[in-house]
Formats: sequence, structure tokens, C-alpha cells
Amino acid sequence: MSERFDVVIVGAGVSGASLAWQMKKRGVKRVLLAERNRPASGGTGKSAAIVRQHYSTPLMARMARASLDIFQTQAKACGFEQPGYLFLVPPDQAATAQTNMAMQRTVGVETEWLDPVALKKKAGDWLNMEGVGGATFEPKGGYADPVRTTETMVSMFKDLGGEFRERTPVRGLIRKGDRITGLSTDGGDIEADTVVNAAGPWSTMLAASANIEMQMRAIREQDTVWEARPGRPVPPNSISNAVDATYLRPLGGNRYVVGRGFPKEYFDCDPYNYKQTADDDFVAEVQRRLTMRFPTMEGAKLVDSYAALYDVTVDWYPYVGPRAGLQGYADFSGGSGHGFKIAPAIAGELAEWISAGTVKPDFARLSYDRIAKMDVFAGSYGGNRG
Ligand SMILES: Cc1cc2nc3c(=O)[nH]c(=O)nc-3n(C[C@H](O)[C@H](O)[C@H](O)COP(=O)(O)OP(=O)(O)OC[C@H]3O[C@@H](n4cnc5c(N)ncnc54)[C@H](O)[C@@H]3O)c2cc1C
Repeated sequence: MSERFDVVIVGAGVSGASLAWQMKKRGVKRVLLAERNRPASGGTGKSAAIVRQHYSTPLMARMARASLDIFQTQAKACGFEQPGYLFLVPPDQAATAQTNMAMQRTVGVETEWLDPVALKKKAGDWLNMEGVGGATFEPKGGYADPVRTTETMVSMFKDLGGEFRERTPVRGLIRKGDRITGLSTDGGDIEADTVVNAAGPWSTMLAASANIEMQMRAIREQDTVWEARPGRPVPPNSISNAVDATYLRPLGGNRYVVGRGFPKEYFDCDPYNYKQTADDDFVAEVQRRLTMRFPTMEGAKLVDSYAALYDVTVDWYPYVGPRAGLQGYADFSGGSGHGFKIAPAIAGELAEWISAGTVKPDFARLSYDRIAKMDVFAGSYGGNRG
């Protein structure tokens, strides 16, 4: 006889782990979290994990705002630091940024506009103001440790009686007509009332095993780590830089994760077989943009570079929730390069949807059904800026 669970979640990245904990918090009895490797071994483990609330739709701003509460509550365990978050914009995006800030305040986001004079005063020598039209500043923003965050979620899930199995690849979903009834593992089949596909860039393959459509790209995302020379003034904040399409996140000890942001060229790859080291020309281009915008980073030492995966959806918003015409199944993937900081709150509303059947109308729109309805999201900046 096969095992049986109320809910089985596939994938213990930040999405699956957060959801597992939220399901148990809501009193769902038998919940299994199955991970083929170990927690955070997908994109989560390599995430820059910048935590910001600057989004251009009320839904995403609400998710980012609600996640912040969770990060703050679990700050020590999640390695959550709040040195503030800066979003540098060119002059032609200054008005849009301020319109978005007004919307964000309506959902409780603390954010202030810094015009060029105020920004220069705040930044001092580490920022070259050329071409900068201003910045939004979130005093509560910052970054978390993505591995510790995921491990914390798994551990809180287990404390509430959830069952976590690592080194347990799910080989396929089991489908009977319009219902997913369970899944297969090397240890045998498992029955479930609901299976949640939180397998990140590998979600497409898992979905395909049961003939479930999923339009998603696996994109190779490169990052670099630099150590600034000692004794220089350096940026204290996490920064998204829409002027030069870069991002920067302090790591401590004068070190920074630095990557290229939207817009840039995006390369599709096979998530089972892609180059996990960064390209030399990418590293050189990051260095050029970094030292041009942040002059005190001149002479910074390259400490590390690597590549990981973005799971990019058609509109850069995740696929979350059940689908019409398919019972026993829900999506939670497609973080599209910005899914870390919103995962904790999305997990909460998804857990409510699965366990109690209640969902807010704007959240319900995250279902994959939006593609067939041609009701996709449109952010005002494009790409993963949301
Ligand atoms: C380099 C980089 C930088 C980023 N920076 C930021 C940032 O600054 N801020 C931000 O908010 N977001 C950022 N993101 C995006 C964010 O990190 C991701 O959206 C998020 O971590 C995705 O989490 P996930 O749990 O959905 O997927 P993943 O972390 O990919 O987890 C999926 C898990 O499923 C497991 N799995 C897959 N198939 C199976 C199977 N068949 N059976 C069992 N297990 C399976 C995998 O092993 C993996 O552990 C970044 C991403 C990358 C790659």
C-alpha cells in the first residue's frame, strides 16, 4: 500500500520550504516536503537575496511588505540585515518611481524619495551621480542569507510535525483524468490530496510528467563577489541600479555580490546541464560598471564568480496556486529572478488558498490560468524589477 499525505510539496528552495511551514501553521495534518538534494540547492542557494519592497503593482508591494514582517521576526535565524535599500533611477524613470512609491505607501511600505542633492548628501564619495535622476530609499530594506532562511523554514516546519525528506527526487506526478493523485519516488508511489510543484526551473519537467503545460524559461544568471580596498568609504546599502542595469548587495567584511540587472541579454539553458562558472567578459563588464558608478570600488579584488538559474515566466511574475480544470495540483514556481523576498508572504496566502479555499482576488490572478485568459501582469520597469 502506498503512503498518503494531505499535501506534498516538491522542492525545498525558499518557496517550497516557506509553504511547508505555512501549511503546518494552518494545522494541515500530514504534510511532506520532498527535496531531491538538500534545502536551497537550486537558485535559492545562489540568490543575492536582496530584500526590497519597491514594486510597481499593489500585489507585489503587498507581498514584499508582508514578507518583511516574517524576515524581521526571524531576523537572526535568516541572517536578515537591514542597512537599507536604494533604487537608483535615471531621470526618465524618476516620475514613475515616485508614482510607484505613492502606491507602495498605501500598502504600508516605508519609502522615501531622494532627489540628486539629497542622494549625493547621503552617499558622499562612493557614488558617481552622473546620469542619476534620484533614488528611492527603504530604511527597512537590506538582504538575508538565502540558505539560512530556507533552513529556518524547514526547521520550523519540522518543529510543527511536518515531514522533510531530502535526497528524495520526485520522478513524476501521477495523474488520473483531471486529477493529480500523487507522485512517484524511488522509494515508491505517494498519494496526496494536493501536490505543490515548487521545483523552480525544474518545475516544467515535473509538470510535463503529467501533461501539464508550463511556459517557463530557465535562464543562466551570473554573479560576482568583490572585496573593496580597506579604508575607503563604500556603499552600506543593498542597491538596485536602473541607471547602469546592475545590482549590489553587501556580504559583510567589505565584500559585495554584484550582478547585471534588467535590461540585459538573457540566455536560455538546460537546467540539468549548464555552465555554473561565470564568463570572463561578464566579469570584466561588471567590473567596468561597478567602478564607474561606485568609484571607491576601484581596485576591488574579485573573490568569486558563479552562475545559477532564474525560472522566468511569461510576465516575470510567479505561477502560484491551483489551475482551473485540474484537481489536486498547485504551482509555486517562476520567481523570475526576484522571488526570494516575496516567497514567505506568497507561501502564506497560498497555504490559505489550499487549506481553506479562500484567496484574495488579486492573489488569485497569480494562477497559471492567467495565460489562457490573456490576463498577464505588466510591471512599469520590465523584467525582474516587477
Ligand atoms: C543569482 C541569483 C540572484 C538572485 N537575486 C535575488 C534577489 O536579490 N532578490 C530576490 O528576491 N530574488 C533573487 N533571486 C531569485 C530568487 O532567489 C528565486 O526566485 C528563488 O530563490 C527561487 O526559489 P524556489 O524555491 O522557487 O526555487 P529553487 O531555489 O530553484 O528551488 C527548487 C528546488 O526544487 C528541487 N527540485 C527540483 N526538481 C525536483 C524533483 N523532481 N524532486 C525533488 N526536488 C526537486 C531543487 O533541487 C531545488 O532545491 C535570485 C536568483 C538567482 C539565481
